[in-house]
Amino acid sequence: MARLVMKFGGTSVADIPRIRNVAQHVKREVAAGYEVAVVVSAMSGVTNQLVGWVREIAPFHDAREYDAVVASGEQVTSGLLALALQEIGINARSWQGWQIPLRTDRQHGSARIEAVECDPMIERMAQGQVAVIAGFQGIAPDDRIATLGRGGSDTSAVAIAAALSAERCDIYTDVDGVYTTDPRIESKAKRLDKVSFEEMLEMASLGAKVLQVRSVELAMVKGVRTFVRSSFDKPDSISTDAPVGTLICDEEEIVEKKTVTGIAYSKDEAQLSLRRVADKPGVAASVFVPLSEANINVDMIVQNVSEDSSTTDLTFTVPIADYDRARKVLEDRKAEIGFQLLQGSVDVAKVSVIGIGMRSHAGVAAEAFSALAKRGINIRAITTSEIKISILIDAPFTELAVRTLHSVYGLDN
Ligand code: ADP
Ligand code: ASP
Ligand code: MG
Repeated sequence: MARLVMKFGGTSVADIPRIRNVAQHVKREVAAGYEVAVVVSAMSGVTNQLVGWVREIAPFHDAREYDAVVASGEQVTSGLLALALQEIGINARSWQGWQIPLRTDRQHGSARIEAVECDPMIERMAQGQVAVIAGFQGIAPDDRIATLGRGGSDTSAVAIAAALSAERCDIYTDVDGVYTTDPRIESKAKRLDKVSFEEMLEMASLGAKVLQVRSVELAMVKGVRTFVRSSFDKPDSISTDAPVGTLICDEEEIVEKKTVTGIAYSKDEAQLSLRRVADKPGVAASVFVPLSEANINVDMIVQNVSEDSSTTDLTFTVPIADYDRARKVLEDRKAEIGFQLLQGSVDVAKVSVIGIGMRSHAGVAAEAFSALAKRGINIRAITTSEIKISILIDAPFTELAVRTLHSVYGLDN
C-alpha cells in the first residue's frame, strides 16, 4: 500500500476543534487507502511561549535544557491528535522523536537529522495504525532530546517521507499553497501551482517562512514530492485526485517558466558598516574569520574600491539575533583590523526577487532598481546570484518595496 505523510503546522492544530478537523483530513486519506504518518507542530504560540520562559530564566542557557523545554509542545499535540483519531474510530498512536528513533547530530537547538530508524513504526503502519509523530524533535548522540530549529516540523515531515518512501509529503498550513509573495503583505499575490526545488530553496532562505529551509534542501536531495496545501479547506469536500495546493518539484516538471517567480523579504538581518578600514591585503580575513569563529553567519557583503588606496568602507549583514555579539567581536579587534568607526542598524530589511528565468534574461535587476527609485526607496546594499537579486533597504519601506516589485514583474496579473 502507498504511504503518505501529512504535516500540520501550529495554526492547523491551534485548538481542540482544529485538532478534530485535522483528524477528519487524516480519516479521508486513510479511507482513500493510504498508510498514513502524520507529523504535528506545537499549538500556535506555544513554542514562542516556551522559548520565552527559557530566556527569562536563563538568557545564556544550556541548549540541552532548552530542547527539553521547547520540544514539549509537539508532545502535547501528538497525543491529542492520536486521541482525536481514536475517538472517530481510527487506530492511531503517538511517536516522540526518541521513540522512532529519529537521530540527530549533537547541535542542540538547531540539530540536523542524521537517520530515521523507523522499522517498528513501519510495521505498525502496515497493520493499519496511523503514526502521529511529534515534529521538530529527535534524539542526539548524548541520548537527550534535540530540536531542529524554528519551523523544524517541516523538516521532520520531509525526512520521514523519505525514510518511508512515501508517495508524497503534504504540508498543511494556513494558506493554500506557495504564493508569489507573502499573501499577508500583498493581497494580489497569486498561488503557484508548481515551484522548482531550487526556487523554493531561495524563497525559503530569503525569508518566505512557509517552509523551513532545511526541509526544502532535504526534499531536493531525496527527491521528495512536497505539496503545500491548506488545512482550512473542508476535509470532506476535497478531491483526493486533484487537491488544490503547490507542488515543489524538479524544474523539468514545470512547463511555463517565468522570469520572476516570487518576491521574498526578511526583517531578520542587521547591517554593520566598518568606516575607513585600511585598504590592504588580509583585511577581509581579519574581519570575517573572527565572525565565523564566533559562529556568526555573514550574508550580504559590499566593499568599495578606495579612491586613494588607503582606506575604504566595508558593509555587511548578520542575523539580527547575532548583532550585539558581532559588534563586540569587531570592537574587541578594532586595533588589529584597523578601522575608524563601526556603524550599524537593525532597522533594515532584505527584499529579494527570485526566478530561474533570470538565468536567461538580462535587465531584471535594472528594472528593480528603477522601480524602487521611483518610489523614493534608498538601496543600502545589493547582492545577486544566478536566480535571485537581494536588496537591503530601510525596514519601514519593506511592504512598499515588496508590492512595487510584485507589480513591476507582472505578478499581480
Ligand atoms: P505553519 O504554522 O503551518 O508551519 P507558517 O506560519 O510557518 O505555518 O507558514 C505559513 C505562513 O507563511 C503563511 O501564513 C504566510 O503568511 C507565510 N508566507 C510567507 N511567504 C509566503 C509565500 N510566498 N507563500 C505562502 N505563504 C507565505
Ligand atoms: N513548533 C516549532 C516552531 O514553532 C516547530 C514548527 O512549528 O515547525 O518553531
Ligand atoms: Mg512553519
